Amino acid sequence: MKWNRLHDPRVGLASTWSERHAAYAAGLGTFSLTDGLITARGMAHRCGSIITDLVLEPTRRDYAGPYGYCLHYRDKSCGICIDRCPGGAITENGHDKDLCEAYVRKQVRSEERSGVKIAGCGLCQTNVPCEREIPK
Ligand code: SF4
Ligand code: SF4
Repeated sequence: MKWNRLHDPRVGLASTWSERHAAYAAGLGTFSLTDGLITARGMAHRCGSIITDLVLEPTRRDYAGPYGYCLHYRDKSCGICIDRCPGGAITENGHDKDLCEAYVRKQVRSEERSGVKIAGCGLCQTNVPCEREIPK
């Protein structure tokens, strides 16, 4: 199947393949209030996937569910990413992909720094307790 972007009325902007979901299925981390994947190396990362029929030893999962590493879902003790988002796209109810995309399209992609066109935002994934590790 060819990778594609689509708009799903249930969740907003979506793609036909998600590297983060593949990483979650492989036991590498859990989702978060921002929709980012929190891994042992934090949320500020890029991940990719390779599909293979190689038989591998499964990674042991030390989390209970799909949001186990996020402090907001764990015990409501965090919401720092809400204040980090300049687009108002993150609330206690989660990440609004349409508001995020609108902010990035309108504000971020029109900017250029040192001759380089800015392609993304990601402020919600920096300066937060889950940036570089599983938050405690
Ligand atoms: S900053 Fe806090 S609430 Fe936001 S994703 Fe990270 S742990 Fe969860
Ligand atoms: S990428 Fe930027 S606009 Fe989108 S949710 Fe994160 S901080 Fe907000």
